[in-house]
Amino acid sequence: MIKPDEFFDELETMSPVAREKYFHRHLTETVAHAYHHAPAVKEMFDQAGVSPGQIANVKDLERVPIIRKTDLIDRQKADPPYGGFVTIPYADIDRIFLSPGPVYEPVQTARIKWFGKAFCAAGFRKGDVVMNTFTYHMSPAGILFHEALRDCGATVVPMGTGNTDIQVQTMRDLRVTGIVSTPSFLMTLIKRAEELGHSFNSDFSLKRAWFTGEMLPPSLRTTFEETYRIDTYQTYAVTETGGALAYECSQKSGMHLMDESVIEIVDPATGKQLGPGEVGEIVATPVHNRQWGLIRFGTGDMSAYVTDPCPCGRTSHRLTGIVGRTSDAVKVRGMFVVARQVEQVMAGFGAIARYQLVVTRKEERDELALHLELKQEASSTTRQRLVEDVIQQFQNACRLKIDHVAFLNRGTLPDQPQKLLDRRVWK
Ligand SMILES: [Zn+2]
Repeated sequence: MIKPDEFFDELETMSPVAREKYFHRHLTETVAHAYHHAPAVKEMFDQAGVSPGQIANVKDLERVPIIRKTDLIDRQKADPPYGGFVTIPYADIDRIFLSPGPVYEPVQTARIKWFGKAFCAAGFRKGDVVMNTFTYHMSPAGILFHEALRDCGATVVPMGTGNTDIQVQTMRDLRVTGIVSTPSFLMTLIKRAEELGHSFNSDFSLKRAWFTGEMLPPSLRTTFEETYRIDTYQTYAVTETGGALAYECSQKSGMHLMDESVIEIVDPATGKQLGPGEVGEIVATPVHNRQWGLIRFGTGDMSAYVTDPCPCGRTSHRLTGIVGRTSDAVKVRGMFVVARQVEQVMAGFGAIARYQLVVTRKEERDELALHLELKQEASSTTRQRLVEDVIQQFQNACRLKIDHVAFLNRGTLPDQPQKLLDRRVWK
């Protein structure tokens, strides 16, 4: 059983050299296996003129076309039921999950062991009583989380979704110490408990929450942690890949990449890999569920990664959070910006009532202008300081410099202005 300060497995603390060797081995084996056993993968590689022998390291993956959810759906319709991605005899499939689409996701291994890492890093251990509020049917979430909690030694209450009042009562009666849910569902339970006349802090024992499937806004995290004294953790999971891709440790400063998939951050238009700090699409190649030949799955989610060492001792790179979908991304001077990033920066400026970031093009260069309305009049010194702060904060978050900041009269912008407006015209 895992002790409080232990890592889940030896992969979490691999040296950079060991990780490179590890990925080389797993990637070459996974690609070769998929090519020779999954007809869809062979077809995609052949069409792109790529042979499995050309894929020896992560950089080589750029040669392989990205497969997206819509491709999976189309291929499963054309070649039912699995679209040519299954690499094992159908009779050896242990279970089949459904994700919206529908996409059928067969799983061979009865127990996916690595998912427990995310719960281990969040501090779940033997002695914890944990309510799992994700659904146990069709989607992999309920069962996977359940088994992963068991791998950390925790006792699980399989609640599933809905039934708010029963969930509140169970949480109290069983002195539940942990919950697995979306942030909004936990807030629903807390509010309901309060409506029923309980004091959440004195009547309940909940001290740990594990979230996935939804963004956790910083303000909501503060409420959970400071008002309700619940330690919160986030994990990024994509069902089509068979599980979690990244998870938070106690530092809560980005999500550590799981080594069971090769994860790239790429330009969604070209598929080329981007460097640390650059925002791009998360593309995953699972290397630990070889019965499912998914190579380079484009998640549609935008993020960036950082490489600086984490004080927790885990050595993998970290995702800096999901900033939006590829469909919302705007490329400015070679960097992707998503409206949510703009919102996160601007949330730190209480004096600003409304704003809009406008992208235009002048003399073959993208220009960024921030239009602001202040809550109240301010002196020119105050305005100047605000401009400098906003430009600096934006640069820190998005690695782009705002060219102009314009102060508008109150009421110039609409009530709910589009936060990021692309006005460029491409001739
Ligand atoms: Zn860490």
